[in-house]
Amino acid sequence: MKAYQELGREELLSLKAQLEKEFEEEKAKGLKLDMSRGKPSVSQLDMAMDFMDTLDSNSYMKTEDGVDVRNYGIVDGIPEARKLLGDIMGVSADHVIVCGNGSLAIMYDTVSRSVTHGVGGCTPWCRLDKVKFLCPVPGYDRHFAITEHFGIEMINVPMSPQGPDMDMVEKLVAEDESIKGMWCVPKYSNPQGYTYSSETVKRLANLKPAAKDFRIYWDNAYAMHHLYEDRQDELPEILSLCEQAGNPDLVYEFCSTSKIIFAGAGLGAVASSKANLDEIRKSLSIMTIGYDKINQLRHVRYFKDIDGIARHMKKHAVQMRSKFQAVLEVLDRELSGTGIGEWTNPNGGYFISFESMEGCAKAIVAKCKEAGVTLTGAGATYPYGKDPKDSNIRIAPTFPSQEEMELAADIFVLCVKLVSVEKLLE
Ligand code: PLP
Repeated sequence: MKAYQELGREELLSLKAQLEKEFEEEKAKGLKLDMSRGKPSVSQLDMAMDFMDTLDSNSYMKTEDGVDVRNYGIVDGIPEARKLLGDIMGVSADHVIVCGNGSLAIMYDTVSRSVTHGVGGCTPWCRLDKVKFLCPVPGYDRHFAITEHFGIEMINVPMSPQGPDMDMVEKLVAEDESIKGMWCVPKYSNPQGYTYSSETVKRLANLKPAAKDFRIYWDNAYAMHHLYEDRQDELPEILSLCEQAGNPDLVYEFCSTSKIIFAGAGLGAVASSKANLDEIRKSLSIMTIGYDKINQLRHVRYFKDIDGIARHMKKHAVQMRSKFQAVLEVLDRELSGTGIGEWTNPNGGYFISFESMEGCAKAIVAKCKEAGVTLTGAGATYPYGKDPKDSNIRIAPTFPSQEEMELAADIFVLCVKLVSVEKLLE
């Protein structure tokens, strides 16, 4: 296919007329499709309905060491659940606290506690003039929403398939004491699906931040979310690398079973050094006498161990990969060689990241909306909702059915073409 940039004005004008006609035809169909949020599909949820039957009125409601899960206590989570979630992150149970129904609340709490009470005996962030976070971009909008909520200034750090630009990260954290944290989705990142390379993880573990209370927020949300049997990314385990580097307290790691079992009814966990966990525990034990241990026990009885989770995730993968492939096929067929877009083809996670020509993303999302396809708002993948190039669009293929996904992808590429032609004619 000829690159759009090589087309003459007349060719572009006739292409525009043809695309406009196609667009009106699509619009007239009155479709209503949603590719906006990374949610599990109904059939993924249906696959786990027997999870609900794991505990019933006849169940033995005690942990392996005899604690009644129906009663108060064990703020860290039951030992077998700490082990299960630790295994997701590749760390031992003593590095893990299992909390409530998901991980985002733990991240919010961790930032909130740092603002009000400080980290490791340092000045609480609320008493500082400036607090900044590094934000690999594009990234997860809800991370950025947390730091924005607390008035923390966010600095964009470009991502590559190897992870964040480490030269930039090393330089910034070494020079600026007001940089207190960094958001990372190290495996199958949201939205690009990139996994940080071993070199990147090693460099992160060896950072020499000016701020003693600098912490990496290692959101390992997609640890188990492979799409393929034969194409799987490996992420080095960072807590042990930090220990080896003499930086044992550098990382808070988070994971959850939201996208393994039921979104919003899973388990969230944080893993970190003993010192960090002690600090977290101090405030947790004021906030709660203990989280939902019944759900913790249900998880352990249902999955049994990490292999049980892996088996369950293989079932998800079968469904998910056909939806990803459906979108990728349309993108390949319609946009390869046109020079008007690039996209990722991840081995796991929940998203495909699309880069349009500069200055086109907002218009593409608006055009899609007009034709009945909802996408994540353009800019959402950047702090403050501001994509400096207005080019990134996050595609979430998981929730719609495959048929809907194919229809939505067709409309998406049509809108990309139309907006790009309009841009080239400006
Ligand atoms: N972290 C990342 C990177 C995500 O993409 C999501 C959900 O999309 C979450 C966290 C939310 O996790 P939870 O449901 O455990 O709060």
